[in-house]
Amino acid sequence: MQSRDRLTLRVPASCRPGHQDKSSRLFTESVEEYVEGVFRLQKEMDKVTTGEIATYMIVSPASASNMIKKLASLGLVSHVPYKGIKLTKHGEKLARQMTRAHRVIERFLVDELHLPWNDVHELACKLEHYINDDIIDRIEQRLGNPTTCPHGNPIDADAPDPSVRLEDAATGKLRVYRISDERKEFLEHLEEIGLKTGAKFEATGSTKIDRLIHLKVAGKKVTVGAEVARHLWVVPAQQ
Ligand SMILES: [Zn+2]
Repeated sequence: MQSRDRLTLRVPASCRPGHQDKSSRLFTESVEEYVEGVFRLQKEMDKVTTGEIATYMIVSPASASNMIKKLASLGLVSHVPYKGIKLTKHGEKLARQMTRAHRVIERFLVDELHLPWNDVHELACKLEHYINDDIIDRIEQRLGNPTTCPHGNPIDADAPDPSVRLEDAATGKLRVYRISDERKEFLEHLEEIGLKTGAKFEATGSTKIDRLIHLKVAGKKVTVGAEVARHLWVVPAQQ
């Protein structure tokens, strides 16, 4: 019998505590998260500032500013003082990859593993950094090439988007096209008032003060505030 002293079993190098597999990923998780964040903000607003990034990432302006310097030194963003922060071509390519991975993973978690739609965003945020493009391709094929994540956001970030924010929509019969805030609490709130992706409802009017919007959802009167009006993207119901 082999003595225990001669046991040659060893944990693979990549599984050792604290090991970071540098061969499969060029950038750290936080660099990738920031690039994805800047990409989302760029799609939502004309000018992305350090302040906006700090708010979105829930960090101090000083940490956001340090990270932006780092991203600039890696050639991922260009930062023109007073003009805002923009992803470079290289940064945009990485952001598209990350966004696609994130949304395919969310779809997989909901469609194949039956996790609740309101509770997959955070998990996808973690997994997306460890699953390479080849695996994402395979998951996508297995799912039958879906076009959106469970919140309606396009897997191909450049796909045409016919929707407008609820706050900019006219009154009338509408359909929830996509939801741009994927935090659990927010999605739970939307589910409670019957506004999941694809739900049809009617916008009946709004108040001048506080910009509250009155809706009729499945026969019930519902009033929503600025957060919902901003992050719920809608199209006419027949579209
Ligand atoms: Zn999503």
